[in-house]
Amino acid sequence: MNSVQLYDTTLRDGTQAEDISFTVEDKIRIAKKLDELGIHYIEGGWPGSNPRDLQFFNEIKNYSLSQAKIVAFSSTAHPNVPPDKDKNIKELLRAQTTVVTIVGKSWDIHVREALDTTLEKNLRIIFDTLSFLKNHVPEVVFDAEHFFDGFKKNHDYALQVIKTASSAHADWIVLCDTNGGTMPQEVQDIIRTVQKEELPVPLGIHCHNDSEMAVANSILAVKEGITQVQGTINGFGERCGNANLCSIIPNLKLKLGIDCISSEQLIKLKETSRFVYELANFQPPSHQPFVGDSAFAHKGGIHVHAIQKKAETYEHIRPEQVGNHQRVLVSDLAGKSNIVYKAKALGLKVSSKDPVVISTLEKLKELENQGYQFEGAEASFELMLKRALGMQKKYFDLIGFRIISEKRKEEEAPLAEATIMIQVGGKIEHTAAMGNGPVNALDNAIRKALEKFYPQLNEMELVDYKVRVLSAGEGTGAKVRVLIESSDAKDKWGTVGLSENIIEASWQALVDSINYKLLKDDKKSAQ
Ligand SMILES: [Zn+2]
Repeated sequence: MNSVQLYDTTLRDGTQAEDISFTVEDKIRIAKKLDELGIHYIEGGWPGSNPRDLQFFNEIKNYSLSQAKIVAFSSTAHPNVPPDKDKNIKELLRAQTTVVTIVGKSWDIHVREALDTTLEKNLRIIFDTLSFLKNHVPEVVFDAEHFFDGFKKNHDYALQVIKTASSAHADWIVLCDTNGGTMPQEVQDIIRTVQKEELPVPLGIHCHNDSEMAVANSILAVKEGITQVQGTINGFGERCGNANLCSIIPNLKLKLGIDCISSEQLIKLKETSRFVYELANFQPPSHQPFVGDSAFAHKGGIHVHAIQKKAETYEHIRPEQVGNHQRVLVSDLAGKSNIVYKAKALGLKVSSKDPVVISTLEKLKELENQGYQFEGAEASFELMLKRALGMQKKYFDLIGFRIISEKRKEEEAPLAEATIMIQVGGKIEHTAAMGNGPVNALDNAIRKALEKFYPQLNEMELVDYKVRVLSAGEGTGAKVRVLIESSDAKDKWGTVGLSENIIEASWQALVDSINYKLLKDDKKSAQ
């Protein structure tokens, strides 16, 4: 079977979903995660349409990725402007990536109506844009927008578009089902017709999910010989979303036997899915195929009996292959091996029979029941493990804090002040700080108090703060989960807190974040 290149567009097309947005920090963390998963191409954004995307391209250069290539995206040059003068194309080149993707129109009515130009001129724009870019960028991908719809209405023109891209020496031509309405049989027929042209360019597929066919269409395209599949993690994307890579990858690997990522990388699938949900501030749907909590959950009776004897009776794959696990009402061995796996990844030596593993698993289950979530809060999980192993030092004790939030006039912004008392060794520190809100004031106060003892906290920065309300229907009395992302010059880490009181939840996440930084630096100076 042919090899397949995976092209992720979570950071560009994925953010077209009406309820999804990522900060630059989020995007960097997601890109690193996608690289670990083994994704070949990561489309980072559209620098011409969103100036914030340039910041991502600048920052991601500071990281060395193991195999993923970062891709910048743009449309073809404006009909009346040569590519070298086009504002979008200039911005695209400023991203300085080794791969760029250009989307161009392949459906005649879109050329006439949306682009307001002639069919002939559209071909020239495509040719000129791609040829120009080929002189500046090593790899150029052409996305043929609305290709399948265009083909159905005017197949001559749709074919002319991709032939033009081929003659301009594009490195890939990607057939897009932009409206997501094409059915699998049509995808198959159209790809077969395209392949009769024997273009000297490898083909890709980009499907949207409006008919719930995006995954099926992508898989079928691969069966027809297509070698690049575009999609997003969890199927994030405009309207009903893009083709879901969390389903496409295991299907390609486990059902079609295509080695698009390694078996070790496939184990990270669930973790990656969760990570992206957490950063998007989304509750992961438990019934999602492959990666959902319920994907391999079995309820009582003969069913459980049967899977205990032979899992294949009720499971289409082994859940561990995608980093998931079977859930039945028996002792959770998979959970234990998960903890052993994590502990080993952190360089700790434990076995699944260790009492500490069993007690950590119980603690973890109890915390998850309460609503804690450790995906996206790896630092809190690591601290919990180290605490259980007696490896966590206590850097300070809280004696108490108080926060005053004040608003004096309707039109004036509120102000907050926090006072805090802590003890480090034998010394007590009592200090106060202001902030634009209560959490900000508390953050400022604790740092001010601790920096005397631990000046390295100066390097630490709080880069993101997310709050999710957990128990819907309880109004302002509901439990909230706070997720904090922090960074210093070298690392980024996430921590979590949970309470009915938002200040308390924030405090927990804040304290974990500080402890993690101090522990991490201790370890380094000990080496
Ligand atoms: Zn799209």
